[in-house]
Amino acid sequence: VAAMLGVDPAAPPPAVGDPAFDALVGAATSVATGPPASGGGSDASADGNGGAAATTTPAGAAALLDGSVPYAACYGGHQFGSWAGQLGDGRAITLGEVVPPGGGRLEVQLKGAGRTPYSRSADGRAVLRSSVREFLASEAMAGLGVPTTRALALLSTGAGVLRDKFYDGNAAVEPGAVVARVTPSFLRLGSFELPASRGDVPLLKALADWAITHHFPHLAGASEAYAPDVDGDGDGDGDDDVDNKYGLLLREVIARNAAMVAHWQAVGFVHGVQNTDNYALTGVTLDYGPYGWLDTFDPAYTPNTTDLPGRRYCFGRQPAVAGWNLSQFASSFVPLVGVARARAALATYATAYATAWAGHAGAKLGLLTFDYTPGVVAGVVTETPPPPPTADEGLLVELLALMEESASDWTNTWRSLARVPSTVPDGTGDEADAALLAPLAAAVGADAPAALRSRWAAWVRRYAARVAEDGRPDAERRAAMDAANPAYVLRNYMAQVAIEQAEAGEFGELDRLRVLLASPYTEQAGAEGYTAPPPSWASRRGVCMNSCSS
Ligand code: AMP
Ligand code: MG
Ligand code: MG
Repeated sequence: VAAMLGVDPAAPPPAVGDPAFDALVGAATSVATGPPASGGGSDASADGNGGAAATTTPAGAAALLDGSVPYAACYGGHQFGSWAGQLGDGRAITLGEVVPPGGGRLEVQLKGAGRTPYSRSADGRAVLRSSVREFLASEAMAGLGVPTTRALALLSTGAGVLRDKFYDGNAAVEPGAVVARVTPSFLRLGSFELPASRGDVPLLKALADWAITHHFPHLAGASEAYAPDVDGDGDGDGDDDVDNKYGLLLREVIARNAAMVAHWQAVGFVHGVQNTDNYALTGVTLDYGPYGWLDTFDPAYTPNTTDLPGRRYCFGRQPAVAGWNLSQFASSFVPLVGVARARAALATYATAYATAWAGHAGAKLGLLTFDYTPGVVAGVVTETPPPPPTADEGLLVELLALMEESASDWTNTWRSLARVPSTVPDGTGDEADAALLAPLAAAVGADAPAALRSRWAAWVRRYAARVAEDGRPDAERRAAMDAANPAYVLRNYMAQVAIEQAEAGEFGELDRLRVLLASPYTEQAGAEGYTAPPPSWASRRGVCMNSCSS
């Protein structure tokens, strides 16, 4: 990406005052210093986005990059389940699009570069700590293979930003920063919800056409007309219609986002603010704020302090919330596809999610195939009434139950599962169980009650028999499992260490993490410490949790 932008990736990052730095922030400062236009949205301070730049932006020529026409996008969204009206890019400015040599497009955006017409009463800035978090998370997700926006650069601006970090009335000036991020399109589900909410069908249609032309070109040839009721039964339920191009777009957006969330569940990622304005049309993970990775497995875990009372966005609810978000998106497509087709498209979500999740579950368990029933999202969300679980689903559900009861570390437990042999030692009793459980000793815990230990032992016997059934050599299974179960994830405390260093002007740990997390499935020499569960300091209130608009 750096090469596409004509930046030498090997060169040291430009410092404040360098012409290269000015070129990057110039476009932003020219917008930032302009008078705030009225966005027509609600008051930003209501959702905690208040704050003002305490000092001016760095001196330097405010020049646009060649050919750049910067803009901030207008969109709406559902926040915490309620329609929030118009939002828009309050602290993100798109510089334009790069057409990479291989084709397609990359939108280049600065986050935290200053006020835009949609900043409402907030300052459009970002603090270094949240920018470090966005930078590291996007690169960690890319390393894990999860669809994500990418972080091109992290710039410390030298400007101070006023923030009330703990909402306790003690505002302080924090170092400001800008993340340059790229992805083919920053269009959000909320980009479509806004014109739909205003009844502006021509704009909705124009936006959908634009998205298809540029980002879903394989749909461009599809008809705008429907071929309804192919089976001629006249039931009008829409599920036997041939979709028009908007229906196809709707289905593809649903499928991509289902796959994205299934991938989050597989790597233990919790987004923290699954508002519809934070969901990308293209199905990449977008807007890294108060996110977190699971340490111990707890389906109720949320990293977002703003989410604490309701836990709407906790780990276990992510797949259901994604479905809810997509239902809002489908509603906004009703003017283009009609109610029945919108409904039929939405009905594909559960199966799309279950299929994607089953793929991950099988890979994580080291099974050649994972037998599942669409509609049951194994152990995470269950439909009512649930169909009876398959044997493979039962195996997974019991493992998740054991991990929850034992407060096992999500990442490390899955990683160690590959070390369980398919041939179990003979014999029963405590000693036999201890030998059996050796690879999972940390997951089970040294002081587990006897009943829980024997359930773990029974599970390992069941698991060994299941993988033996596949007949794959253990070494081969282990290699496959290691490619699905990462050794390293960006635990919150790891990001925190990098942040504290960065705030002191040291970027060594940031770079160390960037390199480590680029290859999270490969054990790296000297990196053993990065598999450790969080140290005790990390559980202090406020240290490793973040609010919505940090
Ligand atoms: P988020 O929760 O980060 O997705 O933000 C929700 C909305 O608030 C988006 O429209 C953001 O652009 C806006 N916002 C968040 N922080 C700021 C800020 N410091 N200045 C202006 N707008 C902001
Ligand atoms: Mg019919
Ligand atoms: Mg956002």
